[in-house]
Amino acid sequence: SIVVTGATGHLGRLVVAGLLEKVPADQVVAVVRDPGKAADLAERGVQLRIADYSRPETLQGAFAAGDKVLLISGSEVGQRVPQHQAVIDAAKEAGVALLAYTSVLGGPAADFRLADEHKVTEQAIQASGLPYVLLRNGWYNENYTEQLAPVLEHGAVVGSAGGGRVSSAARADYADAAVVVLTDEGHEGKAYELSGDTAWSFEEYAAEVAKQTGKEIAYGPVPAETHQTILTGAGLPQPFAEILVDVDAAISRGLLAATPGDLSRLIGRPTTPIADSIAAALKG
Ligand code: NDP
Repeated sequence: SIVVTGATGHLGRLVVAGLLEKVPADQVVAVVRDPGKAADLAERGVQLRIADYSRPETLQGAFAAGDKVLLISGSEVGQRVPQHQAVIDAAKEAGVALLAYTSVLGGPAADFRLADEHKVTEQAIQASGLPYVLLRNGWYNENYTEQLAPVLEHGAVVGSAGGGRVSSAARADYADAAVVVLTDEGHEGKAYELSGDTAWSFEEYAAEVAKQTGKEIAYGPVPAETHQTILTGAGLPQPFAEILVDVDAAISRGLLAATPGDLSRLIGRPTTPIADSIAAALKG
């Protein structure tokens, strides 16, 4: 079977939908912690296995010998090293044929906080001896386009990334890449640096939103401390605000701007331009 963890998440749902276009539903397994969120998947004939990354005992039986598994990195920042280790251990015990993992663009070279747990997970996967493939995902277009409301309200894109550029792609592009490595042969042992075909600056992003809405929207680059104050002032918890400011520092250093073309090569088409994702978000 082809097994997708985090199958009720944004990326997981897109991966499952992509798999269902290529393989019979009875070969697709969704590992979910909340079956209540997965009723639609079950209706489509996908097999559900219930497991929580935080409870290793629930991962017993989540995988079977010969499965190809996509471990979608968890969303509980700070807890992901033991969580991912538990999934790797269960996959190893089951004897899976392939473990694919959604890592971070740059892998070992990504020296910012949000990347730390991905780097440790990559090492744990390599140490497990399992056949693996690393999907080193760059940023999603949706990280920005799902935050358009305050941009439109204030007429400003605010951040502390300076003139840094982001080679983002749509979640659906990364999902398609995952489907390819899970359904084609020959990806074992590879680490793909997945990102959009072009990298945009926040000035260009603001100009594109302005163009599509007819509103005046400018990029207001601010220092890290100001950014931090703005984010906590908007109600974000301090630790989360710190992580976002740290991401902008990484962007200003060029760490999320790589355009090696791995993603468009894998999916056999150009990646989704940020302008298209802006248009989709504005349509609602
Ligand atoms: P989501 O938050 O939509 O999905 C995360 C998935 O992980 C959900 O299905 C969630 O389950 C599952 N999950 C979280 N904790 C556990 C747990 N303890 N046990 C079992 N399952 C768990 O994120 P996306 O789908 O958008 O992105 C996938 C991952 O990529 C994120 O989790 C994060 O690691 C990373 N990411 C990457 C970004 C990028 O720009 N490259 C941006 C944001 C995140 P449930 O549905 O029950 O909540």
